[in-house]
Amino acid sequence: MSSSHAKRIAYIYSKEYAGLASLLPSNIDRSITVHALIDAYGLLNHPDITIVSPQKATLKELCRYHSRDYIEFLQKVEENNASDENEDCITEDSRMDQLEEYGLRYDCSVFEGIAQYAELVAGSTIKAARLINDDAFDIVVHWDGGRHHAKKDMAAGFCIVNDIVLGIMELQKVYDRVMYIDLDVHHGDGVENAFQFTDKVLTVSLHHYAEGFYPGTGSGISSNKTKAVVNVPLKSGLSQKTLSKIFDQVVEPLSMRYNPGAIVLQCGVDGMAGDPLGKWNLNIQSYGDCLKKIMTWKRPLIILGGGGYKTTSTAKCYAYLTSIVIGKQDISEEIPEHEYFEDYAPDFQLAIDPSRQVDENTDSNLEGVYRLVETQTETLLRTEMP
Ligand SMILES: [Zn+2]
Repeated sequence: MSSSHAKRIAYIYSKEYAGLASLLPSNIDRSITVHALIDAYGLLNHPDITIVSPQKATLKELCRYHSRDYIEFLQKVEENNASDENEDCITEDSRMDQLEEYGLRYDCSVFEGIAQYAELVAGSTIKAARLINDDAFDIVVHWDGGRHHAKKDMAAGFCIVNDIVLGIMELQKVYDRVMYIDLDVHHGDGVENAFQFTDKVLTVSLHHYAEGFYPGTGSGISSNKTKAVVNVPLKSGLSQKTLSKIFDQVVEPLSMRYNPGAIVLQCGVDGMAGDPLGKWNLNIQSYGDCLKKIMTWKRPLIILGGGGYKTTSTAKCYAYLTSIVIGKQDISEEIPEHEYFEDYAPDFQLAIDPSRQVDENTDSNLEGVYRLVETQTETLLRTEMP
């Protein structure tokens, strides 16, 4: 970390990449909307921020985690899509079976540019890690990253490739201990799977946990196979106040104890009030508070996106968080005039007001959650940390 006061901040973005990311069927137009608002606030021209071009991951880089079969299938899936009369005599049925096997049939349906998108999202988080490894920047922001559900050999939950796993693997070339914090409303199952047998990566996921809620894992019931895995299962209506309490009670002490060399934050904002998922009741300050606390730990930090299904809310939150990263705390409450201004009707305000949804995470429920966390960290805390 630089000793100077000004932080060295990189922001991974290009117009072309945002255009491709905006084709992701789960988040149509989200990427361009997010970057346009951040730009409209003047944050991309701030002297402390450096715009860094995205980078495509090579086949070799993707296969550091993903199976070769899956990546090769992904790279030709569009061609197969286009040619109905395939010379390889692939029947429609067997093609559907293959799409299903690789998780590309339902949630993560094939779109034009899917392979290029996957290479860019993975390559950009790997690049973020390299910038940190080279001590070129203190904080790298990659809002199009954070695809925490993708598995080794398949897409899952709107995530085609797991850029987070690949980024953390890159960080491990330099850092002995990496802490991963996942604030998305869904369990960070893909990242947990990848690192469940090592104590060199501590994964901490705060998520909504209820029967039938995707992905259904992350109960917090400890398995003795897992080493540095902490799950914080929460109930409906999570408020800013409760998130802040949990952060202070669980996340901060873990970071002090674990003493990571670098931190990766997955900042999915699908827990915000007004998100179509409707599970939590957070506002932009809820995420901002967590980010501010993490920044006080003074560790190299990669900030990634994630879920967020109300596009304008996601843009507001990421603009606010970008302003916090820069240390510019006074961005206007009024949405600035720009190309997508009309999308912010009727109020054109940055703030997102919590609803009347009851916070079911009562103090007595939280006691249970804290006990669960203790059981999960017993093994970890017995390990001698330098
Ligand atoms: Zn999510």
